[in-house]
Amino acid sequence: MVGPDDPAGSEVAVLGGGPAGASAALRLARAGARVQLFERQAGPHHKVCGEFLSVEAQRDLRDMAFEPLRLGAVAIDRVRLVNGRSSAESRLPFTGLGVSRLLLDEALLEAAEAAGAEVRRGVKVIGLDAAGMDTSAGRFDAPARFLATGKHDIRGAGREPAGGGSSGYVGFKMHWRITPEQDAALGNAVELVFVEGGYLGLQRVAARVMNFCVLVRKDRFGGSWSALLAELGRDEHVARRLDGASELFERPCSIAGLPYGYVHRPSEDRDGLFRLGDQAVLTAPLTGDGMAIALRSAALAVEAWLAGLSSADYTRRLRREVAPQVRKAMALHRVTGLPIAARLASGLLGLWPPLLGRLAAATRLRESASR
Ligand SMILES: Cc1cc2nc3c(=O)[nH]c(=O)nc-3n(C[C@H](O)[C@H](O)[C@H](O)COP(=O)(O)OP(=O)(O)OC[C@H]3O[C@@H](n4cnc5c(N)ncnc54)[C@H](O)[C@@H]3O)c2cc1C
Repeated sequence: MVGPDDPAGSEVAVLGGGPAGASAALRLARAGARVQLFERQAGPHHKVCGEFLSVEAQRDLRDMAFEPLRLGAVAIDRVRLVNGRSSAESRLPFTGLGVSRLLLDEALLEAAEAAGAEVRRGVKVIGLDAAGMDTSAGRFDAPARFLATGKHDIRGAGREPAGGGSSGYVGFKMHWRITPEQDAALGNAVELVFVEGGYLGLQRVAARVMNFCVLVRKDRFGGSWSALLAELGRDEHVARRLDGASELFERPCSIAGLPYGYVHRPSEDRDGLFRLGDQAVLTAPLTGDGMAIALRSAALAVEAWLAGLSSADYTRRLRREVAPQVRKAMALHRVTGLPIAARLASGLLGLWPPLLGRLAAATRLRESASR
C-alpha cells in the first residue's frame, strides 16, 4: 500500500487503539488524513504490562506534544535486582516513568480524537481481505490500513510463527494499594524479582499504588491467580511488599502464548498492511521497551506512508532500527528462564552493581535515523 500524493481527505483505517494504533491515528490525523480507528474495547481498560515507560517512549510521546507526566507518572531512576535473599541496586543511566496503562492508553486515544481521528470504540475487527475488512459494525473498505491489534491476530492477517521465539509463558498484572512503609521502601526503583521459571516487575505507578507484573513459564503456574500468589508469596521480598496490601482490580489481567522474539519480515508484506507495535515486533518484556517500539513503529509507518513508500519499505526500516534491541532482550529473557543462570547473574551483579546500569543502557532502543 503506497501513500497518497496529498494526504488531505485520504481515508485510512487504524485497527486497534493501544499506543501503536492511537499514536498512528494521531499522526495521520495531524497530517490531514481522514482516520477511523477501530478499538474493540468499549471503554478504558488495563493490559498486562510492567508499566515502565522508557526514555525513548517518552521522547516519542513528547515529539507528538504529549506529556506523560500530566498523567501522574512516577519517576523511576533506579533498578533493583532481587533473587532470594540477595539483591543488587544501581542508578539507571536515564529516568524512566511508572505510568498506569489504563490512563496512558486512554489519554492517547483522546489526543487522537482531538487531532480529528474518529475513534470507534466497541467495534471489533473480525477479518481482513484485499479490499477492506469486516467488523462487528459491518463492512468497511479503506485503501490504507494500519494493523495495531497488539497480541491479537486477525483472520486474513495472521503472523508466521516466531523464529526462535518462545510462547511457553503466562503473564499477569495487578495493581496493589501498598502500605506507606512499602511505598517508601520501593521508592523510585523498578524491582526485578527472579523466581523459578520467571520474574516479577514491581514499581510504583502512583502514590501507594504498586504495579505487580509477573511473567512465568506455564509449567510454574498452578492454574489460578490465588495459587500463583501463594507460590510467589513464599519469596520473602514479594511477601514483604504485599504485607498489608490490597488488590485494586477485581481480577488480574492475564496473557499467554505470545511469540516473543517475533520480528515481521518485509517478504511477508504481501497484504500491503502497515503492521505496528506488537503486530510487527514482539520483544521480551524484561527491558521495558514494548511501548517504545510501538510508538516508534507508528512514527516510521506514518512517515513512510506519507512519503509514498510501501509497507515492505517501512518494515525493512523498522527491522533495522529495532532488531538489535530485540536480540539483546531475547538473550536476557532466555537467561531468566534458567534458574541457575539467573542466580549466577544476580550474584555477579551484586559484586558489581554499576554493571546493571550498563546493561540497562546497552539494551535501549537505538535513536531513530529520521531524527
Ligand atoms: C508481561 C509483560 C510486561 C511488559 N512490560 C512492559 C513495560 O514495562 N514497558 C513497556 O514499554 N512495554 C512492556 N510490555 C509490552 C507492551 O505492553 C506492548 O509492547 C504494548 O502494549 C504494545 O502496544 P500495541 O499498541 O502494539 O498493542 P496493545 O497495547 O496490546 O493494543 C492493542 C489494542 O488493539 C485492540 N484490539 C485487539 N484486537 C482487536 C480487534 N480484533 N479489533 C479491534 N481492536 C482490537 C486491543 O483491545 C488493544 O487496545 C510488556 C508486555 C508483557 C506481556
